[in-house]
Amino acid sequence: MNTLLTHIIPLMVALAMACSCSGGSAQAASEAAPAKMEAAAFCADSAMEYARRQVAFGPRTPGSAAHDACRDYLVAQLRTFGADTVIVQSGSAVAWDGKTLPISNILAQYNPTTTARVILLAHYDTRPWADREPDEARRNTPIDGANDGASGVAVLLEIARQLNLKAPEIGVDILLTDVEDYGAPDWEQVDNQEATWCLGADYFAAHMPYTTANRPRFGILLDMVGGRNARFHREYLSSRLAQSVTAKVWAMAKRLGLDNRFIQSEGNAITDDHMPLIRRGIPVCNIIENNAADTGTFPATWHTLSDNIANLDPATMTDAGVVVLTIVYNEKP
Ligand SMILES: [Zn+2]
Repeated sequence: MNTLLTHIIPLMVALAMACSCSGGSAQAASEAAPAKMEAAAFCADSAMEYARRQVAFGPRTPGSAAHDACRDYLVAQLRTFGADTVIVQSGSAVAWDGKTLPISNILAQYNPTTTARVILLAHYDTRPWADREPDEARRNTPIDGANDGASGVAVLLEIARQLNLKAPEIGVDILLTDVEDYGAPDWEQVDNQEATWCLGADYFAAHMPYTTANRPRFGILLDMVGGRNARFHREYLSSRLAQSVTAKVWAMAKRLGLDNRFIQSEGNAITDDHMPLIRRGIPVCNIIENNAADTGTFPATWHTLSDNIANLDPATMTDAGVVVLTIVYNEKP
């Protein structure tokens, strides 16, 4: 993903129309929350293990053997976690560098015949270049993508495992998108740099397996949800273009006592996988670390070789997972 320049925003808006299970920190903090809400169960250790497994494949750059092995692992896990259907949507897209990249979006459905549905998504590909790496000589090296890629997927795998243990009342689609992070590096001069990101989500949005009857009522995107001391501000585009679900997420975080993690103020505008779905009429909120205390935008590990498993914090993933899963369990058909 990338941060949008503020001058692009008005145009975009116009165009867009033995694990430590349970709620963990959410449960402890919820005692002080004004309106009590029982936090959904979520296992931090499981989520951490799912992130570790992804990173162990190596960088999951589009078309690589590591990417394909990770894709197969994710499909197998979702089947193990009782998804009623798991499909791989295959396609391709021409990237900014002229390469034709294969796309494999993974879609798992729970309660597939239920028309009242929500969609939860995260990207599983990782960035081929560490273009923010302080050491210039290493900027062509692919990153581990522990936070940027694996963390969101790990949270969704743990959510899938929980959905298998306790069924939701609504239908739930889990979409693991491909080719999110192949956007042109800053050193390349390309037209419309913003359009070079999110190619897998673009493809999904153009080939959605929905009718007007069973189209998800809203979606939640998880991206970079595993950073240490991460704070989630309301991402600007979500807050403007997917207002009700964004309000729902931050209100739930408050009720769970997690407003030290989910900050009740607006953050940066971010090009990410929520936008293709928003453009197709599904309001999707992006939970992403931005407005980091030290950098003002993304965390310092973003698109660097330090985006590795050692810098991942299971407590952050747990807070994100608990908020999303508690929303899912409280959603009525
Ligand atoms: Zn990225």
